[in-house]
Amino acid sequence: MALYPPTTYAPNEVDSLWRETARPGQTFPALQSDIEAEVVVIGGGFTGLSAALHLARDHGVSPVVLEAGPIGWGASGRNGGFCVPGGDKLGLRTMAKRYGLDEARAFFDLTLAAVERVAGLLRDEGIEADPQPGGELYVAHSPKAFTRLAHEREEVIALHGHRQELLSPQDLTEQGLRSEAFHGGLREPVGFGLHPLNYVRGLAAAAERRGAALYGESRVIGWSRDGARHRLRTAGGSVLAGKVIVATGGYLPEAIHPGLAGRVLPILSNIITTRPMSADEIAAQGWSSTQATCDSRALLHYFRLLPDGRFLFGGRGGLGDDPASAAAFRQRLEKDFRAAFPAWSGVEVTHFWRGLVDLAFDLIPHCGPLDEEPSILVGCAYHGSGVSMGTETGAQLAALAAGKTTPALPGFMRRPPPRFPFPALRKFYLGSALAGYAAQDLLG
Ligand SMILES: Cc1cc2nc3c(=O)[nH]c(=O)nc-3n(C[C@H](O)[C@H](O)[C@H](O)COP(=O)(O)OP(=O)(O)OC[C@H]3O[C@@H](n4cnc5c(N)ncnc54)[C@H](O)[C@@H]3O)c2cc1C
Repeated sequence: MALYPPTTYAPNEVDSLWRETARPGQTFPALQSDIEAEVVVIGGGFTGLSAALHLARDHGVSPVVLEAGPIGWGASGRNGGFCVPGGDKLGLRTMAKRYGLDEARAFFDLTLAAVERVAGLLRDEGIEADPQPGGELYVAHSPKAFTRLAHEREEVIALHGHRQELLSPQDLTEQGLRSEAFHGGLREPVGFGLHPLNYVRGLAAAAERRGAALYGESRVIGWSRDGARHRLRTAGGSVLAGKVIVATGGYLPEAIHPGLAGRVLPILSNIITTRPMSADEIAAQGWSSTQATCDSRALLHYFRLLPDGRFLFGGRGGLGDDPASAAAFRQRLEKDFRAAFPAWSGVEVTHFWRGLVDLAFDLIPHCGPLDEEPSILVGCAYHGSGVSMGTETGAQLAALAAGKTTPALPGFMRRPPPRFPFPALRKFYLGSALAGYAAQDLLG
């Protein structure tokens, strides 16, 4: 069942800054015939395109990709462009308790390797995605939150040995990150910002160059078995394939196969961007660094100054995706932005857009076959960190589909997300969680 209105899933134009500033991308035509492939991928975002690229480049398999909209139309072409370690909402300590220390360490390693994989693809495939180096900074929204960040740093060192840098408010000011709203920060050195639409278009071009066949405007609307193989139907044709990779993120089409129902909770993430600011305007706030930054709220904001002097400010949440709810959320986001950066209170916001990110019931990303049909592989649930984790999961899915070993993949990720209990109540769970997070943030 779809949790949002049909317009959320219809491949209409996204009014994002990325669309306006991206390098021209290739247009991939719709599927117009009946074809066969060893592997078919549903979804043309980071996960599906990375799977296709790695299958073609590293495993000698030429897959077919079917994308409902233009390539990169989903979350991949419209996100904040934070290519940073992450993918879960569980936390390292709980992960270690639940799955064991070795598994938690393996996951942490995977999150670091995922960022390196994106950097490697940009380099090796010649993808121009405007990387902004500098890792990721978490800024504390309260003194209590700063104490928590310091504690988290110790935990990461104890559990993994990885070192993050603690910064006082004065350090932040000296580094061109001044805001009265923040009480210090913690910098994760691994990670960078990028232009997500340029990245996803670059991935598509590389996948095609390596031998994948890509089809845009080709929504899968029917799925049946044909002997041991799967036949996926679109409006214009069909693909008969031995293996299917489902890479549809928060846009998971639950109705097309019973094995997909109730497995993810799609939630909205929202972004505003300003007009380009002058050097004087930037100096007035004292925030001149292009550091990719998040605050420490449970309902976090993510933000960064872009190379052309625009400011990007994002936040998750909003239960409805009708025009009135979207307008209300935009207003709220603008208010939060101006509260954190008062010197920019008069700077116009030029763009607002939103899209779906996917959560799993167990709060970890997933990458593996359906129990009942092992020839169907599912990769999703990056909890808002899919630039790196989606790319990595795609590479792991490619190896699984090619029958190779995947030693880097923690055991707990090697399956699709478990179904939510009473999936019809997912919006209700989300509403309760959002209210709980808001209350938590008020307490500091
Ligand atoms: C506003 C926003 C900000 C974000 N910011 C960040 C960030 O800064 N850093 C970060 O790491 N992550 C961020 N994310 C999350 C990240 O974008 C996603 O985790 C990631 O893009 C998921 O990639 P994907 O390929 O799995 O899914 P998607 O990119 O969502 O692609 C899924 C595709 O499947 C297609 N599809 C669905 N059904 C069908 C069908 N039946 N047939 C064919 N195709 C179908 C859809 O059209 C869609 O294009 C953000 C997300 C949003 C929405």
